[in-house]
Amino acid sequence: MSYTKEQVGHLVEGTLDWDTTMRMLSMPKDKERFSMYLETLQKKVTFPDRIVLPLSPHMYIVQSAKTKQWITKCDCGHEFCGYKDNWKLYANIYVRETEEAMAEIYPKFMAPDTNWQVYREYYCPSCGTLHDVEAPTPWYPVIHDFEPDIEGFYTEWVGLPVPEQAA
Ligand SMILES: [Zn+2]
Repeated sequence: MSYTKEQVGHLVEGTLDWDTTMRMLSMPKDKERFSMYLETLQKKVTFPDRIVLPLSPHMYIVQSAKTKQWITKCDCGHEFCGYKDNWKLYANIYVRETEEAMAEIYPKFMAPDTNWQVYREYYCPSCGTLHDVEAPTPWYPVIHDFEPDIEGFYTEWVGLPVPEQAA
């Protein structure tokens, strides 16, 4: 089964449902689809760094054009940190921990109880894009997202050469 440019376009725009997205991205050994996906993403950004892996609709791991290091980068060009670091610690964080703050976004009876749950929103310091939201208990430390196994993904799943990486 293969995918058309149009379907890959939907994937990039985030207009496919999650199941279809996962099915498209997790079918092993489809070099062409993954290359096409990266190519389409690359056209949307203005920076020269090569996209290695998309992390979310506006965030990527890229190979820096200058240093060849892999870094986490916003699509506005803002560089957060090395890809193994927790980018959330470099983001602007807004914590909704009062009823008033919750009421700005949630209808009263749907809002979480702020004694048990807060909302942490992570924004790009340069363009203000909201990259992630967590809903932990108030005392829970900042959650580090999975550290992606990029080498494994390239070699085992899509069968493409792993992009170069400076130490
Ligand atoms: Zn940004």
